[in-house]
Amino acid sequence: MEIAANGAIAAAYFIIPLTLLPLLRTAKREIWLNLLLAIGFIFSCGVGHTLSALGLHSTPWHWVTAAVSWAAVVVLCRSQTRLRYLTETFSLLETTWEQALTGNVLCERAGDDLKVLRLNPAAAAITQNLLASGDRLCEKMPLHRQQVYPYEVPLIDLYLEALESGESKRLEYQYKGEISGWYMTLVTPLSPQLLYMTFAEVSGIIHDPLTGLYNRRILEMELEHWDVCLFLDLDRFKLINDQRGHFLGDALLKAVATVLQDQAQNHDGIAVRNGGDEFLLLLPAAAADAAEPRPTPAAIAASVLADILLIEIEGASISASIGVASGVIHAFQEDAPINRLLQAAETALREAKRNRRSNLPQHRIQVWNTALAWRRLRQITLEAYLAQRSSELEFWLAYQPICHMETGAIVGAEALIRWDSARLGRVSPSEFIPVAEATGLVHRISDWVLCHALEQLAQWQEVAPQFNLSINISPLELEDDDFLDRITQRVAGAGIASNHFGIEITERGIYNNLERYLQSLQDLRDMSLRLKVDDFGMGQSGLAQLLQFRFDEVKVDRYFIPTSAQNLEKVAICRAIANLSQGINFDLVAEGIEQSSQRDLMLGLNYNYGQGYLFARPMTAPNLTTLLQAGTSLSPQPPRD
Ligand code: C2E
Ligand code: MG
Ligand code: MG
Repeated sequence: MEIAANGAIAAAYFIIPLTLLPLLRTAKREIWLNLLLAIGFIFSCGVGHTLSALGLHSTPWHWVTAAVSWAAVVVLCRSQTRLRYLTETFSLLETTWEQALTGNVLCERAGDDLKVLRLNPAAAAITQNLLASGDRLCEKMPLHRQQVYPYEVPLIDLYLEALESGESKRLEYQYKGEISGWYMTLVTPLSPQLLYMTFAEVSGIIHDPLTGLYNRRILEMELEHWDVCLFLDLDRFKLINDQRGHFLGDALLKAVATVLQDQAQNHDGIAVRNGGDEFLLLLPAAAADAAEPRPTPAAIAASVLADILLIEIEGASISASIGVASGVIHAFQEDAPINRLLQAAETALREAKRNRRSNLPQHRIQVWNTALAWRRLRQITLEAYLAQRSSELEFWLAYQPICHMETGAIVGAEALIRWDSARLGRVSPSEFIPVAEATGLVHRISDWVLCHALEQLAQWQEVAPQFNLSINISPLELEDDDFLDRITQRVAGAGIASNHFGIEITERGIYNNLERYLQSLQDLRDMSLRLKVDDFGMGQSGLAQLLQFRFDEVKVDRYFIPTSAQNLEKVAICRAIANLSQGINFDLVAEGIEQSSQRDLMLGLNYNYGQGYLFARPMTAPNLTTLLQAGTSLSPQPPRD
């Protein structure tokens, strides 16, 4: 009887260690030694009982059991603190699991579904108590079996994929089911069967609070393949915002957002507020089997523009420039097709922005083409080279004489910047000045021109005291607070007669703040500088500008200079300007005089001064010095009959 009892106890003592052994796989390393010693102790008890059952029980074996049991006692005593930490960590994890703001779910694979083993209160709340322990995920929330935007496979496939690969996944998707919104889910496989999921609603992060449209973040996500991108920027929005206040600005932005949202819905796309007054409309490829063909991207842009032009809030209206790109873009080094599409549309937008002639679609909408990409590339290169300080060493000033039309006497000159780039060769100012204006580099360039021109004028005034020199400045300069201080200081320090120093401001009318612009002109006038309107006739504000501020001189753009009396329109325009000059009292210069016929015609129209290749091309300073010293007249007047 005792033999049987000993045998039964021994059998249990052998089996218990065997059941404990697999725990080593999941137990923390900290308790391995404890576990091994406990296993050893139970096992040695088993051996003791077997020996007893066989009547072979010996004292030495008792010593073995005693030694192992004491070793276990010592180790257990010594690791008390560690064991306590472990327990506390587990209870902490338990609390964070329960109190987490994100939904936490532990699932087990159940065929092609997942069985919920445990979920925390946040998970129950986010799923509106649809889920409970023991539920099958897809059974309770069938949307998991459907394709969810932006993924092309059902969510459950993505979860099972994570289990199979053993790799964690971060998913962001739009859920439009029992509960709608944007969700971010992190799935972490714990074993081939166990999946840990933590999820949160991120709709707020993905939407712009003001307009309710998507924000830029949506672009960072793995989106479906967009085929068309309209990149919008509101025209002169900053001006309205500054002058009429942010409430009105916000209201306009919201109205534009509504237009875009409607268009997005009509064409199965999405509307995004890119930031500030920039918006995007992204559309998928047109369905081939659609009942009626979709309008072209340019036509969609035209209808967006038309809708925007209809907006009127408290008497304020708004216009927009739109860059359009569609299809596969074979330019730009961007990795993802979406980035190429965006780049192309943005490049087209920048081009549309440059052309501010009217609100007509042909002036406000630009469709991307490869020529634009090349131009953009060139601009980026110019920008990079110009930004280097060393580019200043490659600048020099050419001077083109301005002559008395009748006698050819040199009355002054215009300083024209030249850039002989070591890497790009000579780059025309008409090309790099706009780039410099767009990037703010123009301020540095203007300062460079100002210094060098003033220095040169000081020298020439010694030879010819009545000689006038003018420089070109960008209209944007007049809104730069530092510019006026700089010009005051430099002119004062140059030792010149300031009424012989002129500032040419192109009439193309690019200024953001008219009041500021006019005030700066007045400040320059107070310094008794000569103020000149350059390229007159080429901008849209010409006459209005002339009436708003009294300039000393107007330079009529060479585009308007007639080559023969038969150019009736041009003759009429030049005559009208001449009449105006007598009324408002400003001097006139005809630009770009290349032929003597032009000079004769302009003389007949009472233009006293001219500039152009007929008199002289832009030249170096020493060459002009020689002419001034010799008192030369250029292209003397042929004898009149
Ligand atoms: P702009 O101020 O109207 O200067 C006159 C331009 O017409 C010069 O071109 C000049 O070389 C050219 N030109 C003069 N006479 C004739 C002619 O008879 N026929 C033709 N076809 N062209 C003639 P350039 O030097 O290439 O300068 C182009 C523009 O770049 C200038 O137009 C001006 O707006 C801008 N620019 C030049 N230098 C500067 C500068 O230092 N600062 C700024 N902000 N802009 C500058
Ligand atoms: Mg000029
Ligand atoms: Mg000009």
